Amino acid sequence: MVDTSEQIYSYDELCEDLQELKRKYPEKLQLNVLATTADGREVQEAVFGNPEAKTQILIHAGIHAREYMTCMLVMNQLEFYLEYLEEGSYGGTTFAELFEQVGVHLVPMVNPDGISISQFGLEGITSASIRQQIEEWYDRDKTSGATSYSFKNYLKYWKANARGVDLNRNFDYGFEAYQGAAAPGAQKYKGTAAASEAEATALVRLTEKIQPALTISYHATGSVIYWDYGQTGELRTACKQMVDVIHSINDNEIKYAATDQQDAAGYGDWCVMVKQIPSATIEIGVGAAPMAISEYEAIWKRNAMIWAALAKYTTEQ
Ligand SMILES: [Zn+2]
Repeated sequence: MVDTSEQIYSYDELCEDLQELKRKYPEKLQLNVLATTADGREVQEAVFGNPEAKTQILIHAGIHAREYMTCMLVMNQLEFYLEYLEEGSYGGTTFAELFEQVGVHLVPMVNPDGISISQFGLEGITSASIRQQIEEWYDRDKTSGATSYSFKNYLKYWKANARGVDLNRNFDYGFEAYQGAAAPGAQKYKGTAAASEAEATALVRLTEKIQPALTISYHATGSVIYWDYGQTGELRTACKQMVDVIHSINDNEIKYAATDQQDAAGYGDWCVMVKQIPSATIEIGVGAAPMAISEYEAIWKRNAMIWAALAKYTTEQ
């Protein structure tokens, strides 16, 4: 169902796939809408496994627009676990047993407006006023030297949402200290206040509601795992154990380096440092985002078993 043969995996495809999966597996999947974006798209949540279980996991992808291959990956994972729930197993435990004890809350495309910009350029945006604003931001950035890209590439390498806010700099940890860009645009602008953006607020509310045992943020690229936000004590130990589990599956390089103030105010920072929830950022792929589809097969092989491994890990805690 989830088409992994073409580079572009769009918001419309994601919506269709979620609906089709729901039709095919009505008892195994719940769909919720968490927020509506500035350009009128929905931030969706898919709930798989057992939402009543003691242990819940939150996974999100596509918070940075040009990293949209992460959305394809997590949708592929969702379909895989739905399809093989009865037959599949990990470490001697069937998927059915694992996901009876764990609920997975997947936000497969946090930033659908930004992704539409990266995939389709201005054509991807419905609102005339947003389109005009984006052109103004580009003219400003071109004049100031902040970008050397053509307009086409400025949009292709877009990271922010349609309001020009980098959603992964819009969370309430290190927000004040983070400087980034001074005004809205393709990247590095944190917004007027923490959680000013509907998409970021959606993740905050979902996290507070389900109180997950761990959270995973899928980004691209680099084939690394980021996890060190300066946490200490038991939380640090728990985070490191989780990261070791991820590493044992995908062999991504573990980055220990503590993040500095100019790499802050992300979802992971907030999760770990404010909510004390073990969290890791998995960066998929090798080439610059948006990555070529030729990378996908290797990415899939490295990440297919992540949900099962994390479910098994949490149930053994
Ligand atoms: Zn990213």
